[in-house]
Amino acid sequence: MKWFDKIFKRKQATSLQSSAMGISPQHAKNMLMMIEKTQEKELSCDEVHALLDQYAEMALRGEDTAELLPLVHYHLVMCPDCKEEYEALTRILQAPIEN
Ligand SMILES: [Zn+2]
Repeated sequence: MKWFDKIFKRKQATSLQSSAMGISPQHAKNMLMMIEKTQEKELSCDEVHALLDQYAEMALRGEDTAELLPLVHYHLVMCPDCKEEYEALTRILQAPIEN
């Protein structure tokens, strides 16, 4: 983390330059953070959807999903669409079964 804090502190001093490129220092920093969180292998949204049931059930059992399914975990951190899917699924799994 430290190295790019340094870079962006310097960048802010020359913020005219970065706004000329249409990218705010904050935006660029967010992009870097996403890249840093990216693992060697990334899952696509389809692959995450395939694992989402399993992932949600593990989370509901109180298992450490970040440890057991780190690629899904990181995808959900980065992808708002899949996170929304996941939260919807969690609500369904938590809902009481109606007889
Ligand atoms: Zn996704």
